[in-house]
Amino acid sequence: MNEIIAKPCPVCGAEKTELIYNSGTTISLNSNYKLHPGRKFVYICETCGHLAGNDLEDAASFYESDYQFLLDKDEEDQLYEVVGERRIYRADHQMTVLEEKLVLEPGLAVLDYGCAKAVMANKLVLAHPRLDMHLFDVSSAYKAFWDRFVASDRQAMYETPPEWQGRFDLVTSFFAFEHISDPRKAIAHVAQMLKPGGQVYLIVPDVFGNAGDLIVVDHVNHFTKSSLTWLLKDAGFGDIDIDADAHRGALVARARKGAAPRMEPDWKTEIEAVLTKAHSLSAHWEHMRKALQPDRAEAPVGQTAAIYGSGIYGAFIHTNLPDPSVVSCFLDQSQWRQGRTLFDTPIIAPDDLPAHVDTVYVGLNPKIAHGVMEVQPWFGRSGLRIVYLE
Ligand SMILES: [Zn+2]
Repeated sequence: MNEIIAKPCPVCGAEKTELIYNSGTTISLNSNYKLHPGRKFVYICETCGHLAGNDLEDAASFYESDYQFLLDKDEEDQLYEVVGERRIYRADHQMTVLEEKLVLEPGLAVLDYGCAKAVMANKLVLAHPRLDMHLFDVSSAYKAFWDRFVASDRQAMYETPPEWQGRFDLVTSFFAFEHISDPRKAIAHVAQMLKPGGQVYLIVPDVFGNAGDLIVVDHVNHFTKSSLTWLLKDAGFGDIDIDADAHRGALVARARKGAAPRMEPDWKTEIEAVLTKAHSLSAHWEHMRKALQPDRAEAPVGQTAAIYGSGIYGAFIHTNLPDPSVVSCFLDQSQWRQGRTLFDTPIIAPDDLPAHVDTVYVGLNPKIAHGVMEVQPWFGRSGLRIVYLE
């Protein structure tokens, strides 16, 4: 099992980093809310403001076989927001943001880097049929999807062919860099693929906009505005623009190979702000883990429990409970989640809470937890214990 070892910063190379998060359990959650052996550690770098996770011990086999991202992903997980009657999916929102930020001229040579099923590349080609699209990933698991819209000579698995160097006007990467253990090597590779003056367009999770990102074990990088700026600048990119508002819970970055840098950020102030936010985030999770210790949260022998919420907080409770076998069901108001299972445990509608359940663990963001519980039909039921993560 992995030990706590000092980890040099994967972005700026600084030797000194500080451990700010330790999952404590030997089982962690991956980004599909599946259980994964090993602990999650997060280290913060005071030089560039990066948050680095420990590497996956079995990364190669994980991405080749286990990480069938989106192949069986719930529709609901991909929902970005609901506006009136209209459901906006994550890929559609990404497309809107991209088209606001980039001009996609016919004939543009594009490489989607770490593209998995290439959902975004496919959407791009449908909307702009004259783009010269190319695909790359460190896996062969997605070839059947790629074959539907890109010829074989525009596909690369594991490594890119020599003739792709300097070929591209644009390299896109949607939620890939958080999985890459050596992001400096990867961004240098991206720079190599680009023509002089070519652009890179990256989306990565924003841990400060989505607290759950910190605890997922296959996110080995948690980029901040400062660390992403450092990464791009160091690889020879200029004209760097990083937007934390365009996509909730994500950073959208754009930069141009070889361009002059924009004004230098005020690193000292930026890093101080990152350190403060990172420490408060790690305290948030540590606090919740303590709330699940046996003396405070254990269901009495013979009793059964339910977990309200089947998202990251609900999954976190299940993995941290002293005895998860007491959990008979998850409750979730999302109709996409109902009828499915999480950790082989059924997900049902909150109204259907079985009468024999004695304890409900509240797996919701603590900011909304009390409000949601108070409107449940079973709230205040005699003998029913409600355990909040606080
Ligand atoms: Zn660093």
